[in-house]
Amino acid sequence: MSDTVFGKIIRREIPAQIVYEDERAIAFKDIAPQAPVHILVVPKEPIPGIAQAKPEQEALLGHLLLTAQRVAAEAGLNKGYRLVINEGEDGGQTVFHLHIHILGGRAMGWPPG
Ligand code: 5GP
Repeated sequence: MSDTVFGKIIRREIPAQIVYEDERAIAFKDIAPQAPVHILVVPKEPIPGIAQAKPEQEALLGHLLLTAQRVAAEAGLNKGYRLVINEGEDGGQTVFHLHIHILGGRAMGWPPG
């Protein structure tokens, strides 16, 4: 199991506002929200980042996207939302356990910073 903060949330060692969970994924509110709705979708398997995902994890990666779709709908984001995966140093990744950001509740700017 991952030793990142997300591993601790998955193992219930630290609290989080969990909004969805199944056997492969968990979703919880970001501790420092960048939009009115900011939720993280995280695989329970501790993949460090999207660059380390393997072909045999294809179904899991699809499951994460469909989980993000479901969680966004349940959060009422019927005007749209943005999904973000930050990868590595230039991508601005700070927690090295793969996660998809769901950002919504306001219009997003483009290009992102
Ligand atoms: P990254 O920069 O790696 O793409 O995103 C990591 C995200 O995790 C950040 O948006 C940050 O606010 C969030 N985060 C970091 N530590 C915690 C925590 O302990 N709990 C929760 N809920 N979110 C966290």
